[in-house]
Amino acid sequence: MTQTQPLFAVYGASGCGRGIMPLARASVLARDIPLDRLVFIDDSGAAGTVNGQALLGYEQFLRMPASDRHVVIAIANSRVREKLALRTAADGVLPWTVTAQNAVVMDDVVIGEGAAISPFVTITSNIRIGRHFHANLYSYVEHDCEIGDFVTFAPGVKCNGNIRIEDHAYIGAGAMLRQGQPGKPLVIGRGATVGMGAVVTRDVPAGMTVVGNPARPLKKPT
Ligand code: UDP
Repeated sequence: MTQTQPLFAVYGASGCGRGIMPLARASVLARDIPLDRLVFIDDSGAAGTVNGQALLGYEQFLRMPASDRHVVIAIANSRVREKLALRTAADGVLPWTVTAQNAVVMDDVVIGEGAAISPFVTITSNIRIGRHFHANLYSYVEHDCEIGDFVTFAPGVKCNGNIRIEDHAYIGAGAMLRQGQPGKPLVIGRGATVGMGAVVTRDVPAGMTVVGNPARPLKKPT
């Protein structure tokens, strides 16, 4: 009976969410659950379908009969992800990790709840990653990295070995992070932003935005 089945959702029906939905669909089908049990949630007020899946408001999602509810928050802005993670958890909705079938995850990797791991991502060995991580297309995480909660990788991020990335950091498309050393990681501080294509050779303090090669603090216009 449909109402006793679980319900799955991708929260966010914009660019990020539409990129995660096909992975979510594959995961639901692999559990032999019909695709009408997979929906988009978006707070925009829009309704109908997006790429073949129903689009619901959050309250509608909560009202649908279900044995349990699972959600992957597919919104790049990490502060929004955190807000929605708190809201959904308060309503008993379970965080759902969605991983592309062709992602490669090697030995001794721990990834926290609610991650979105896109196609062609590689996560090598002995790595710790926090909650609600986004690893976009073709990004990699090399050995011995430690990544905090709500960290976001745009496509093509090259995160080399022995790097620590703190909560809410955002790494732009194609950025390259220099390898750290055992016991002395390269550190990307809490809430820091690394610009698209930056080549980061030294620690980035919390909250700072760096750009360029070698990456330097972004000067605000005066
Ligand atoms: N959104 C939402 N609830 C929020 C904040 C955002 O449903 O509290 C939705 C918003 O309506 C939009 C999507 O999340 O559809 C964010 O889309 P955007 O293009 O800004 O970012 P991306 O898809 O790249 O993360």
